[in-house]
Amino acid sequence: MCGIFGYVGQRDDTPTLVLEGLRRLEYRGYDSWGIAVKRNGTALVEKHVGKIGQASTSLPASTIGLGHTRWATHGGITTLNAHPHLDCSGRLALIHNGIVENFAELRQALRARGHVFRSETDTEVVAHLLEDELRGAAGTREALRLATMATFRQLEGLNAIAVLDVQTSTLVAAKNGSPLVLGWGDDGVFLASDASALLEHTRRLSFLADDQLALLASDGAWLYDVRSGEELRPAIREIAWEQQDGGLAGYQHYMLKEIREQPRVLRRIAREGQAQAQTLADLVLDAHGTYLIGCGTAANAALSGKYLFSRIAARQVSFATASEFAYTEHYLNERSLVVALSQSGETIDVLETVRAARERGAYLAALVNVEGSSLYRLADCPILLGAGPERCVLATKSFTAKLAYLLLAAYAAAGRIEQGVRLVERAADEIEAFLDDPRAAQVAELAQRLYRKEHLYLIGRGPSYPLALEAALKIKEVSYIHAEGFAGGELKHGVIALIEADTPCIVFAPRDETQRAIISGAMEVKARGGCIIGLGPDAHEAFDHHVPLADVGDASVIVNAVPPQLLAYHLCLLRGYDPDKPRNLAKSVTVK
Ligand code: GLU
Repeated sequence: MCGIFGYVGQRDDTPTLVLEGLRRLEYRGYDSWGIAVKRNGTALVEKHVGKIGQASTSLPASTIGLGHTRWATHGGITTLNAHPHLDCSGRLALIHNGIVENFAELRQALRARGHVFRSETDTEVVAHLLEDELRGAAGTREALRLATMATFRQLEGLNAIAVLDVQTSTLVAAKNGSPLVLGWGDDGVFLASDASALLEHTRRLSFLADDQLALLASDGAWLYDVRSGEELRPAIREIAWEQQDGGLAGYQHYMLKEIREQPRVLRRIAREGQAQAQTLADLVLDAHGTYLIGCGTAANAALSGKYLFSRIAARQVSFATASEFAYTEHYLNERSLVVALSQSGETIDVLETVRAARERGAYLAALVNVEGSSLYRLADCPILLGAGPERCVLATKSFTAKLAYLLLAAYAAAGRIEQGVRLVERAADEIEAFLDDPRAAQVAELAQRLYRKEHLYLIGRGPSYPLALEAALKIKEVSYIHAEGFAGGELKHGVIALIEADTPCIVFAPRDETQRAIISGAMEVKARGGCIIGLGPDAHEAFDHHVPLADVGDASVIVNAVPPQLLAYHLCLLRGYDPDKPRNLAKSVTVK
């Protein structure tokens, strides 16, 4: 899940170039970071624990270097465990994304051969292994390439590595599973784990496929197949993706900024997303079995899709959590349609699952926010969400963008896309009104009453059930309060045992066929002392607090997703945390 950034070329401000690149990638992991550059024939390394924040680098000018933001898997969050890792001789500085599953065996063998380890990471074995492979070889790029291939072939698991070799002034990188991108600049070549870090330097990118190795030097870059050793012609893509996020633009946090961007994103989808939604609808209508899959927030959006297609288009689509789907996808065939949802397009559980589905012949559509991402490239029919860069680790606008596309596609499948477009536009208007009127302040006040609570429950029925799950996820992720979302009907089957005096329970009560039953559930919780917070158009005596939200028909799911986002944001601030970088989380989950 880490961020990788490298550069070699004519510029001598590599340390700051790399640091800025890492800052852009920090949402991928932020427990520690480090940079290595070549200076006077040696590798100089700087490492720190914690977020990059406003840090600057003390490394001297150099024309070649690389850096890493870590999301620890093996070994604690310490300076020694931060990347880059050196070999014994100090010739190689190596960074890594992924897990070397056979690291224990490799380390034992390397120790027996005299290598000295300084960290607890799985990563460090790769540096020593490469050092071993280089022993006795010529000090040439060719030898480095061959040794790196031999090293990479010995690694088990899904990995991306990048190495700075001070002897040949070369960067060498290889990947299997985790993403790596080459950027072709005017004054040098770049390497990154995510295209978004490169777009300010160049839009000419080459995405490495699995089992490919790239060699980068001041006179160019070359691509090879790790298994056969054959040289490959890098395919260069011109990326049009608009990644300018305009910074914080006066907001204190990206989370709030991105919550407020939702009306604009939704209007854009209503305006420009109709053709893509129609394509998705046609695929669903044509398929013998449609499966919506995703992880985390994307899974909640996928589950919403199941309800939307059923009620709007009377069409059955299935839902599965991506990490579980692979265990039950034996029935997929050439007529199956898998629709994968992912903000980053790099979620490893999604990628693995769709690859397996592909092998069974399934057709693959994707709702994804990042152009050029692995999922985007893999899909037969990639649909770009167009939500713009989401810098906060928590998904907000990408969630409602997915809901909007699914709603439009469901209406398109029912032959009524214009109606869907109008509803999405109305949802945008309602969200804008909510964020600008006293209701937003009411949510902030609610947060005041709730922020010291240990437990919080959320209930919804029908399309509001995935919303209850998503709202609970937002609150957990950012405020670390234990929040659980439940299907309203499940309450009496166990959950109600948790309700005691003053336990807060948020109730999604839109004006639809679920309203009566969910209010009954709310009354039952209230009868046991629970404190009811109702979200929906109609007030009710069951509610201790009521946040009035407009009835926008089927698009109410989009509107009702927003107040809990805002609540989560305020809970986080009141508890003194950073909403943009919650503990232990990273935006794109690229390790299993
Ligand atoms: N497994 C490595 C470590 O724990 C790499 C983690 C990452 O991808 O950031 O250091």
